[in-house]
Amino acid sequence: MTASAMRGCAAAGSSPATSTSEAFPTSSPRSSATTCSGRAGARGARGAGPGGRAGRARGGHAAAEAEPHLLEAAQGVTRQVPYRVAVTCGRCAGAGAEPGTAVTTCAACGGSGRLQHVSRSVFGEFVRSQGCPRCSGSGRVVEKPCRECEGGGMVADERTLDVEIPPGIHDGQRIRISGEGHAGSGGARAGDVYVLVRVRPDRRFVREGNDVFSTVDLTITQAALGATLDVPTLEGDLELEFEPGTQPGEIRVLRGRGMPVLQGFGRGDHRVLVNVRVPRHLTPEQRRALEEFEQSADERTYRADEGFFEKLKSAFR
Ligand SMILES: [Zn+2]
Ligand SMILES: [Zn+2]
Repeated sequence: MTASAMRGCAAAGSSPATSTSEAFPTSSPRSSATTCSGRAGARGARGAGPGGRAGRARGGHAAAEAEPHLLEAAQGVTRQVPYRVAVTCGRCAGAGAEPGTAVTTCAACGGSGRLQHVSRSVFGEFVRSQGCPRCSGSGRVVEKPCRECEGGGMVADERTLDVEIPPGIHDGQRIRISGEGHAGSGGARAGDVYVLVRVRPDRRFVREGNDVFSTVDLTITQAALGATLDVPTLEGDLELEFEPGTQPGEIRVLRGRGMPVLQGFGRGDHRVLVNVRVPRHLTPEQRRALEEFEQSADERTYRADEGFFEKLKSAFR
């Protein structure tokens, strides 16, 4: 009886098969990772499954960051995103050997890149496999290391990706661009690039999920007499009419003028909270005019309605 516990070839990367789906995998707008395909990469070109030759390993994932403004996140935007990535060394074509020098098969592992330890017990024979320390799993020994990459076969490079940031993206989400990450060794697939999206806030708006909030300032006379004001929205200014007797804390709901639903349909709402500005400094004449007004006021002047606090709470429904 032989129990083989040999692990798969080192070429089998730890990552699952690359998805080239355009769709974001989850309906939750708060998911920490999202995927979408970027420009065409080397995806699916050469599978690096078990059985690949020694030293063949899928490349690692690279990280990048994009900082769209909130208004750009609302519209969707294409950003040029710089990032550092390991690429195959051009001098040695990834072999790690100085051009013209010999590359020999590793004597320790016979070129397999792995060493096997066989142990026997009453249960049978166990085969344990580990990477060859002599050749670091490559199966080859170079006579003279390449002076460009110092024998590693990879060099660092600065690259730029055109990343499509979809409308409605949330701060902290990641976009996966498949096949544009670090080069694989031995001709294996490259890794992916994860672009962390940091949405830069707009001081005029507060975002809550797909909804946005803003405030509008009315003077006491505008609130009492009514006014038409330009109110900023995600898509530019919108003229809003305020009735005579508009109260502080009133909420104007602009349906469907919030953030677009990421990879979905529709948009959130925009809620405008009314603030009434009370004069801080009065001339003697203004003061007299207000005192006169106050004397002429009765209970009809200040008709009671829904409390200020109730309205404030309704802003966050
Ligand atoms: Zn090199
Ligand atoms: Zn070896």
